[in-house]
Amino acid sequence: MTAAVASERFEFQTDARQILHLVIHSLYSDRAVFLRELVANAADAWDRLRFAALDRPELLAADAEPAIRISYDRAARTLTVSDNGIGMSRQEAIDNLGTIARSGTGRFLRSLTGDRRRDAQLIGQFGVGFYSAFMVADRVVVESRRADAPPEEGVRWASEGRDAFTVETIARDERGTRVTLHLRDDALEFLDRERLVAIVRRYADHLGVPIYLPGREAGSWEQVNDATALWLKPKGTLADEDYKRFYRHLTRDPVDPLAWAHHRVEGKVEYTSLLYLPASPRFDLYLRDRVPGLRLYVQRTLVMERAEQFLPLYLRFVEGLVDTPDLPLNVSRELLQDAQAVAAIRAALTRRVLDLLEGLASDRPDDYAVFWRHFGSVLKEGIAEDPANRERIARLLRFHSTRDAADAPRVSLDDYLARAPADAPIYYLLADNLAAARRSPYLEAFRSRDQEVLLLTDRIDEWLMAHLTEYRGRRLRNVARGELELGEGVGEGARADVEPLLATLRQLLAGRVADVRASSRLVDSPACLVLEEGALGAQLRRLVEAAGHTPPPSRPVLEVNPGHPLVAAVNRAAGAEREDLAAVILGQAQIAAGEPLEDPAEFVERLNRLLLKVAF
Ligand code: ADP
Ligand code: MG
Repeated sequence: MTAAVASERFEFQTDARQILHLVIHSLYSDRAVFLRELVANAADAWDRLRFAALDRPELLAADAEPAIRISYDRAARTLTVSDNGIGMSRQEAIDNLGTIARSGTGRFLRSLTGDRRRDAQLIGQFGVGFYSAFMVADRVVVESRRADAPPEEGVRWASEGRDAFTVETIARDERGTRVTLHLRDDALEFLDRERLVAIVRRYADHLGVPIYLPGREAGSWEQVNDATALWLKPKGTLADEDYKRFYRHLTRDPVDPLAWAHHRVEGKVEYTSLLYLPASPRFDLYLRDRVPGLRLYVQRTLVMERAEQFLPLYLRFVEGLVDTPDLPLNVSRELLQDAQAVAAIRAALTRRVLDLLEGLASDRPDDYAVFWRHFGSVLKEGIAEDPANRERIARLLRFHSTRDAADAPRVSLDDYLARAPADAPIYYLLADNLAAARRSPYLEAFRSRDQEVLLLTDRIDEWLMAHLTEYRGRRLRNVARGELELGEGVGEGARADVEPLLATLRQLLAGRVADVRASSRLVDSPACLVLEEGALGAQLRRLVEAAGHTPPPSRPVLEVNPGHPLVAAVNRAAGAEREDLAAVILGQAQIAAGEPLEDPAEFVERLNRLLLKVAF
C-alpha cells in the first residue's frame, strides 16, 4: 500500500484558490455541512459505479454492496470517509480536486452575499463541495483507485488547502475513495460518535446508500442512516419534515418547498413520482442553457440527473423525481423522446402539477402569491404551449385589476367573472407598467360605468393574450382595440355635429393615422389611439424588432373626445395653429399608449408654440 511513485506538486488554479480562501475564512458557521458534502460525493461515486456496471458487471466484482464508512481516530485527530464507488484516476484527482473549471464557480463567486449561513448552503449548490473539508481540516488526504484500474494505479492527493496540492501514484487494493481529514484544533468536536450520527441523520438519512460508523465492538460497523429511497416508502409513514429534508437533499435549496405531490401508480404504466413546488427560483431558472427536468430513476438506479421529457417546458420550475421500471436502464435522451411510457407519464405528471397548483391557489392563497411572483410568467407560457390544458392554466393566472389596489397581481379570471355583468366580455388593458396602466385614458369610459378592467403589465402579456381569446365562453377584449360595445357612447348625441371636425382632423393627420373617429372610451382625455383587432401591439412589435425583423406597419385609428375643449379648439383655430393642435393631440395619444413619437423634437416645437400663446 505504499511505494510512492512520481510525486508531483501542483498550484491550485486562481479561482480554486479564491474559493478555498472563502470556504476557510468566511463561511465558518454551520461547518457540519462538510460531512454532507463528502458523503454526497461518496454516494455519487456509488451511483456512477452502479451505472457503469450496467454494461460492465465485472466492475462490481466481489464488492457488490454499497457502503460509506465514517471513522475517526482521537489520538491522530483524523476523520475518514471512505466509499467503494467508482474512484478516481491520477488525472481525475488532479482535474476534479485541483481545478474548478466547471462553470458553476464564477456564478458561485458572484452570488456570495456575505451572509455566512446562506453562503455555506450555496457551496453545495454550486458544486464546490469537496473544498468544504478545509473548513475543519488543515490537511486533507484523498486516496483513490478507479474501479477499472489495476491495484498499482491508485492515487494519493494531499493538500493543506492553501496554494498547492501534491499527487503521487500509490498501490491500493480496494477500488473507491478514502478521504482523510486532519482536523484543525478548533474542530475536534467532530471526533464524537453522537455528533457524527446526528449530522448523518440530518443530511443523509434517505441517501439510498448505507452509511456506517464503527460499532460498539471493536472492528464492527453499525449502519446509522435509513438508506431506503424515501419515495418508495408509503405516504402514510412520511412526515412533512421528511419530505422537506429530502427536498433539501435533492436540490440544495435552503428554502422549504411550497408544496409537493407523491404518487405511486400501478397500471398500464408503472411509476413513482415525487414533485415539488419550490418557494424560490433557483439561480439558473431564467438562464437559457439551464437543463430543466426531473431526476430519472429506473428501479432505484439513477440514470439521468435531469430528464426534461417528463414535464412540459412551462412547468420547468418543478423539482423532483420519477422512478419507473418501464424504461430500460441504459435509456438515452433519444429513446426518451419516443418512448410510449414517457408520453403517458408526462401527461399524468402535468395533471398532477396543475392539481397541486389549484390546491395551493384555493387553500393557501398567500403561498400561491409567492409561487406566482416567482414563476407566474413561466406558467403563462403554458397557455400557448399546452392547448389541451389551456382552461386549467387560465384559471391559475393572476392579474392586476382596476378593482384591486394591491401591488401584487391577485385577481383571477373567475374573480372577474363573478363581478362582471352577464354576457359582457372580459376586458383587459396592456401597459408597460402598473402606474401607466392605472392612469391610462383607455380606462375612462370603464371607470365611469364602474366596469372592471384587468391590467396586464408583464412583458409577455400581449403574446399571452394572443393565445387566450376566450375563457368559459366569454371573449377576452383589449380595451385599446377595435370599436367598443359599451352601449350609449359618451357624447353620442353630438355625433352629427362632429363630422366636420373629424373630417378636418383626417385631413390634417392624413398618412399618420388610418382614420379619425369620435370615441366612446374617453371622458377626461382629448384623444387616444386604437388598434384594429389582430394588429401587432407595442409589445409584440418590440419582440419582432428584437428578433431582427421589421414588423408590418400597423396604422392606428385616432379616437377623439369631441366634448374635450382641446378638440373643440381645433374648429376655432386656423392655419399653422390648427396643424399644431392636431399634431399635439395625436402626439399625446401616442405617449399615453406607450408608443414612441416619430419626431419628438417636432412635437416639442409645436407644443411650445401653443404654450407660448397661453403664457403671453
Ligand atoms: P461536485 O460533487 O458538485 O461535482 P465536489 O467539489 O464535491 O463537486 O467534487 C468535485 C469532484 O471530485 C466530483 O465531481 C468528483 O468528480 C470528484 N470526487 C469527489 N469525491 C469523490 C469520491 N468520493 N469518489 C469519486 N470522485 C469524487
Ligand atoms: Mg459534491
